[in-house]
Amino acid sequence: MSHEPTIFDAILAGEIPCHRVYEDDHVLAFLDIGPLSRGHVLVIPRERAAFMHELSDESAAALGAVLPRLCRAVMAATGCTAYNLLQNNGAEAHQAVFHVHVHIIPRFDDGSGLRLTWNAGTLETGEALAATIAAAVD
Ligand code: AMP
Repeated sequence: MSHEPTIFDAILAGEIPCHRVYEDDHVLAFLDIGPLSRGHVLVIPRERAAFMHELSDESAAALGAVLPRLCRAVMAATGCTAYNLLQNNGAEAHQAVFHVHVHIIPRFDDGSGLRLTWNAGTLETGEALAATIAAAVD
């Protein structure tokens, strides 16, 4: 767990610039400085939380509520008809900035956008695991 300030706190405080596309009391969205494709946007809560599982219900609700609107805006602005939402938690999961953020990454037919390897297995017996997870929901 890390609650150390990150570069996104500096962006939230206006100490370093960003290309802002949306903000409200709980959320800020801006262009990613290293875009995987044109229109790659980051959506962050103002609340300082490193990981999704640490985020308050209030911030999570605000983040979730605005995502469809921002996806529509990115689609309208870029003309993309496909996009990925990506949200990394932990260095092993490719997280580099330890402040919750959702990537909106348009996909175009020029090869730009998110590339991933989907190593799908086979679900043999899910009942016990599903029950264990269900029992852990707080
Ligand atoms: P992640 O690997 O999910 O932690 O992604 C962090 C993202 O933050 C990367 O896509 C970076 O390009 C982006 N990023 C880092 N610093 C900045 C910045 N100052 N302005 C905009 N995006 C940034």
